Amino acid sequence: LYNMVQDLKGNIRVYCRIRPSFSSESGNVISFIGEDGSLVISDPAKPQKDGRKVFQFNRVFGPTARQDEVFKDTQPLIRSVMDGYNVCIFAYGQTGSGKTHTMSGPSGGSAADMGINYLALSDLFQMSNKRKDIIDYDIHVQMVEIYNEQVRDLLAEDSSTAKLEIRSCAGDNGLSIPGATMHSVKSTTDVLNLMKFGEMNRMVSSTAINSRSSRSHSVLTVHVHGKDTSGGTLRSCLHLVDLAGSERVDKSEVTGDRLKEAQYINKSLSCLGDVIAALAQKNSHIPYRNSKLTLLLQDSLGGHAKTLMLAHVSPEEDSFSETISTLKFAQRVSTV
Ligand code: ADP
Ligand code: MG
Repeated sequence: LYNMVQDLKGNIRVYCRIRPSFSSESGNVISFIGEDGSLVISDPAKPQKDGRKVFQFNRVFGPTARQDEVFKDTQPLIRSVMDGYNVCIFAYGQTGSGKTHTMSGPSGGSAADMGINYLALSDLFQMSNKRKDIIDYDIHVQMVEIYNEQVRDLLAEDSSTAKLEIRSCAGDNGLSIPGATMHSVKSTTDVLNLMKFGEMNRMVSSTAINSRSSRSHSVLTVHVHGKDTSGGTLRSCLHLVDLAGSERVDKSEVTGDRLKEAQYINKSLSCLGDVIAALAQKNSHIPYRNSKLTLLLQDSLGGHAKTLMLAHVSPEEDSFSETISTLKFAQRVSTV
């Protein structure tokens, strides 16, 4: 039933999440959020009617939406991984808009604030347990980061060493990054420990290059392997992606490494947009090969795979232009 419902809706979905405002001085530019996925944004410089723009997505979550509400709307998609579908969920938006909050939850947060990564895995364990008499599932995870078009293993004991290669079409073993450490997970505790380890690996490098986490893409891949009683097997994967911040940097202000980083981010995010837009328009050529990110996600973008983009925006006036650019990006890949 999950798949039937999903298929009716199409394989690319876009949700938008607006985080709470943290500033009492700055005005709120989001003037309306509809139950039907519509959203109205008002340009603070043009208070009249012509400063208003309407966007339409599959769903919009306002600033008071809880983590479990956001998860509930992604759950059917996540569950379809257990039926053999490849799924990709990614968080897009400027730095500070709430991507990591949605995917991982606040750092040191309570169990009630856990993000999609944790909730997804714990749901998959429950599903696997429910079906254990008919299908025997194995769940493994990998976690990598893509920084300046280089892939790094976040679960390796010494993550600084190996630069990993991506296979454009998953090889015999079904893996697109065969060199990345693969961990078997059996419980939510296993998952929590690995996520902490991966986060720590990211932090270590961020002392050298300040707040690197906002300038790299992190990809948690869940591999599901199932065997039924008659010997049939299924293999699928779920990519959970926390993208680098989408903000444009002022080329006149940054130079050197910072400029190089910004160019890599721009390039990979626009490649991602191109791939999804090409899929949404059902083009015959899909430009997966233009970035490491799209190459890595290739098996879960397009075909029978299901894709969900979670566009994140800040409600404050001073983020207006980035918010508009995020909404436009999201609208472009959306099929609604
Ligand atoms: P990003 O990963 O996009 O840079 P973060 O997830 O780190 O942004 O969010 C920036 C700050 O805002 C963090 O302190 C985070 O805890 C907080 N935050 C983001 N979204 C929400 C939300 N929906 N509810 C409460 N706090 C949030
Ligand atoms: Mg973040």
